Amino acid sequence: MNITHIEHLGIAVKSIDEAIPYFENVLGLKCYAVEEVPSQKVKTAFFKVGQTKLELLEPTADDSPIAGFLEKRGEGIHHLAFATDGVADALAEAESKGIRLIDHAPRGGAEGLNIAFLHPKSCHGILTELCEKPKK
Ligand code: ZN
Repeated sequence: MNITHIEHLGIAVKSIDEAIPYFENVLGLKCYAVEEVPSQKVKTAFFKVGQTKLELLEPTADDSPIAGFLEKRGEGIHHLAFATDGVADALAEAESKGIRLIDHAPRGGAEGLNIAFLHPKSCHGILTELCEKPKK
């Protein structure tokens, strides 16, 4: 599926405002964007680490998937996102190889990327996101 790099790591936090000081003051990273993604009921904050990003995820509703994750697992790494040059093709390939899909077609995610998730049960416990920059 032609993965080029790790696009980002998604990290579930209870509060972005409370988490940002750790990433900025301890790790010395700079938060360059905060964005709400209403379709996923999350607020996100982004940091760059080389060509990989950290994406903090705070739930904006009680029925947000991140709220459920925090309830069950607490704060921590939520998903791993790979950059690929074609999410639709990558999904088709994964499905043909017996991988359970969460999304059957790419959809819009944070930062204007096209994204889709693979089910962690098929990915050795890792909720796996595939992303691509939309073609113009
Ligand atoms: Zn993500």
